[in-house]
Amino acid sequence: MSYQVLARKWRPKSFETLVGQDHVVRALTNALEQNRLHHAYLFTGTRGVGKTTVARILAKSLNCETGITAKPCGICDACTEIDRGRFVDLIEVDAASNTQVDAMRDLLDNAQYAPTAGRFKVYIIDEVHMLSKSAFNAMLKTLEEPPAHVKFILATTDPQKVPVTVLSRCLQFNLRQMAGTSIISHLQNILGQEKISYEPTALHLISRAAAGSMRDALSLTDQAIAYGGQTVNESEVRAMLGAIDQSYLYQLIDALLANDGAGIIAQARSMEERSLSFESALNDLAQLLHQIAVAQTVPDSVADDLPERNLLLDLAQRISPETLQLYYQIALLGRRDISLAPDEFAGFTMSLLRMLAFTPSESETKKPLSKPVNEPKPAMASQPIVKPAEEQIPSSLDKTHPQQANTLIEQAADTAVESSNLNSTEQSSENGSATQFNGNWRGLLDQLKLGLARNLALNSALLSYDENTMRFAIQDKDKSLLSAMYQDKLSSALQQHFGRKIRLEFSVEGSVNTPAKEVAQEKAVAQAGAENAIDQDSFVQALINDFGASIIPNSIKPISN
Ligand SMILES: [Zn+2]
Repeated sequence: MSYQVLARKWRPKSFETLVGQDHVVRALTNALEQNRLHHAYLFTGTRGVGKTTVARILAKSLNCETGITAKPCGICDACTEIDRGRFVDLIEVDAASNTQVDAMRDLLDNAQYAPTAGRFKVYIIDEVHMLSKSAFNAMLKTLEEPPAHVKFILATTDPQKVPVTVLSRCLQFNLRQMAGTSIISHLQNILGQEKISYEPTALHLISRAAAGSMRDALSLTDQAIAYGGQTVNESEVRAMLGAIDQSYLYQLIDALLANDGAGIIAQARSMEERSLSFESALNDLAQLLHQIAVAQTVPDSVADDLPERNLLLDLAQRISPETLQLYYQIALLGRRDISLAPDEFAGFTMSLLRMLAFTPSESETKKPLSKPVNEPKPAMASQPIVKPAEEQIPSSLDKTHPQQANTLIEQAADTAVESSNLNSTEQSSENGSATQFNGNWRGLLDQLKLGLARNLALNSALLSYDENTMRFAIQDKDKSLLSAMYQDKLSSALQQHFGRKIRLEFSVEGSVNTPAKEVAQEKAVAQAGAENAIDQDSFVQALINDFGASIIPNSIKPISN
């Protein structure tokens, strides 16, 4: 028997065996079980996520000889012939091929005749967005007045190119990209049944290269089996995938952490020589930064068999959360703007150099990449090199205007603003300027990192303060906010801001003027202003008077909010 490729051999034949599209399966199952059938379905999603597979299972569900069912029997003539691609009442058209498009009109002319063998005549039209205008028109006629025995199942990777007139007559389902974990467990299952040995790390590499497409994952696995002589090994998969080896990303991050601009440029040159796409490199970099951030937040979530496990955990220890956020944001923006750059090389290197320029001046540990992951992290105090902020500003920026750098950061990234604020606070608390408090409690709130304690802070009115104590009043109804956890959080945010311990005292009172109240009052004033403006608008008045229009209560919102 000739070798059958995995994607074909393991193509799911029932909704139960379909992987990773639970939401679509649930909706279709319900519709079939309650006999709420639509005459046209549209499946959208990127390539290889299972659109035509779902379409064929649905065709069986509609035509199975046991009756309309979410669980087609798989053994009747209709089911087996659909599986073999030979069912006379299932007409499959690949709109990407022109010859079949020419035949669309004839095919659709035949729609009026009753099915020969099945309950329904089912038209599966793949890549439907490729149909010509005249083909769409021919289809639209049938879609508008479909004979009861006709079902359309359309599939497309590009729904935006499908005319609205067609879209509006279809029940739409969006098939998701397959999660990496779904792909890996599906591959494990298949290789187990095929009795082919594999290294788990190899499956991670394949799943990543497949980028959400189960079909790609299966054909890469096919290749790996051929390449590795009936086994799937990490080293061979790595060699096979070649170009997507991501070690260069780790080298880039390492250069960033070592403040090594020359190293970054050299790395970019070598990427250019290998013709790597700089745009996808920024995307991959953002993805890697995300992985590091997750590893930092939930170290246990890093799979034991992940090929880069040690590297990830190492970087998670060496980069601060703020820096990660900053890099991530710059990578995203760099990718968005790369088409505006003089060329991709410039766009890419400028993004990296921007990361370098705006790396917060924090006492980050800077050690070689080869450090074993379980080595204890040295205490911050043992890191003698805390660079003054100015030294971090590259020579290309005017050193006499650190403000200018801050403005740039604000433009570069939202998160950058946070980091730079954090920095300026730290810096100024060293020379004492931020310890001055002018009594503007509401203004101070915006500068504190409060998290859940923000609610307590907003509902507290500052009564008095001195260097070491702040006295607040809180309304009786808000007493529940006075939990030890919120008070601790508020206290530590203040300590971080002022650089010294601030004692908090609360008294409970009937009614006090809190920042929360002020905000609510300002909103009410803005709302009244907006409503007033709308009331007086002559166009709105004309609509009300001449056309019987009415303003929907609560629909007016002030523009500033
Ligand atoms: Zn059947």
